[in-house]
Amino acid sequence: MVRFEDTKTAYILKSDQELRKAYLLFRLFSKQLLVRLGGKFVLFLLRLRIPINGILKNTVYRQFCAGATEKESIQLVDLLADLNVKSYMHYAAEGQRTEKGMDASLNHVLETLSIATTNTALPFAVFKATAFGPTHLFKKKSAEIQLDKEESAAWARVLDRIRRCCEFAKDKGVRLLIDAEESWLQKAIDEIALDMMRQYNRGEQAFIFNTVQMYRKDRLSYLESLLHIAQKEKFHLGIKLVRGAYMEKENLRAMEKGYPSPICVSKQATDTNFNAALKLILENLNLCELFLGSHSEDSTSRVVEWMKDQKLPQNHSKIWFSQLYGMADHISFNLAAQGYQVIKYLPYGPVKEVIPYLIRRVEENTSVGGQSPRELGLIKKELKRRRKG
Ligand SMILES: Cc1cc2nc3c(=O)[nH]c(=O)nc-3n(C[C@H](O)[C@H](O)[C@H](O)COP(=O)(O)OP(=O)(O)OC[C@H]3O[C@@H](n4cnc5c(N)ncnc54)[C@H](O)[C@@H]3O)c2cc1C
Repeated sequence: MVRFEDTKTAYILKSDQELRKAYLLFRLFSKQLLVRLGGKFVLFLLRLRIPINGILKNTVYRQFCAGATEKESIQLVDLLADLNVKSYMHYAAEGQRTEKGMDASLNHVLETLSIATTNTALPFAVFKATAFGPTHLFKKKSAEIQLDKEESAAWARVLDRIRRCCEFAKDKGVRLLIDAEESWLQKAIDEIALDMMRQYNRGEQAFIFNTVQMYRKDRLSYLESLLHIAQKEKFHLGIKLVRGAYMEKENLRAMEKGYPSPICVSKQATDTNFNAALKLILENLNLCELFLGSHSEDSTSRVVEWMKDQKLPQNHSKIWFSQLYGMADHISFNLAAQGYQVIKYLPYGPVKEVIPYLIRRVEENTSVGGQSPRELGLIKKELKRRRKG
């Protein structure tokens, strides 16, 4: 059994001061109304160009981001690697709307892939498909609406950007994750991901990974169909398994537009779906590789227990456990200390570029049933342990 409560291991990289700061932040996140108003206030101040970057940098940014540049972030990558925790970096600026912005996103992904080729602590890179193309095109493609001539040309550029990343990843031997997004965009992303897996996941290992959100009711049958295709066409599946990040948005849109929500009816239903997917993947490791993107102790323990039952080595090459930087350190560092393959998601970028990412992290930690109480309890325990020590 992995002991996630070992807080000495969990917070080994954090100084007393950093821990106290993290404690205050997570306490703040537990005050829903304050966070909601605070978030709006921050955006308001930024719109007025009031300089608050310094405050953000010393608080949420430091908690959740690796640095402003690739070079700055590498220092953290090396620190983590010393503790057997690997990383993948992501330039976390979101919502690129111009062709220039999309090309810049492409260059960032190619850059992280390039850095990864020279650093074994970076076995993965990642991209968000909508960073490479206008959202409305993903929406139209997902709804099978015909594109006009101009849109078709823009879509060809999107596919070209994605193909360049996947080809580069395969050539350099770095695994590449494709993030999952909202359901009304995801069908187009799934089709591209399948195409890329077909092309670049030949042989005994997966290079391209698609993300499957198990809060969606239809994803278990989607996984089953993927496995069927992979078996028939003889390629490997790379699966990043997550619960899903856009629940409120999905439910709200379904309600407004009057269609049944694609999201499971309860947390328990999502968990049941998630566990069934885990089982399916683990029982088919000959066909796929698992990248578990979760902060759930229960989901993590299930995989660990299964590995023990099957007598698989902790560092099995087809099983990866991943958490976001600044969250669930008790899972990451305790698993890594016992030899499991752990990989932290490290977002980076200048403060003002990564604000939407930071807001999502804060909202996630603020939501009812979110991670904050658990984080708070563990940090408190560690501070107490240090005081006694
Ligand atoms: C490394 C990593 C990569 C990620 N990449 C992506 C990505 O590409 N795309 C993406 O969408 N998300 C992504 N996520 C976020 C992820 O989908 C979850 O939102 C987040 O990790 C919380 O789920 P959990 O398994 O960690 O924890 P838990 O606390 O066990 O689960 C919380 C999740 O359960 C689901 N849930 C909660 N309440 C309900 C309810 N009432 N009804 C139905 N379902 C409910 C929601 O999905 C919620 O996020 C990623 C997370 C990690 C750690």
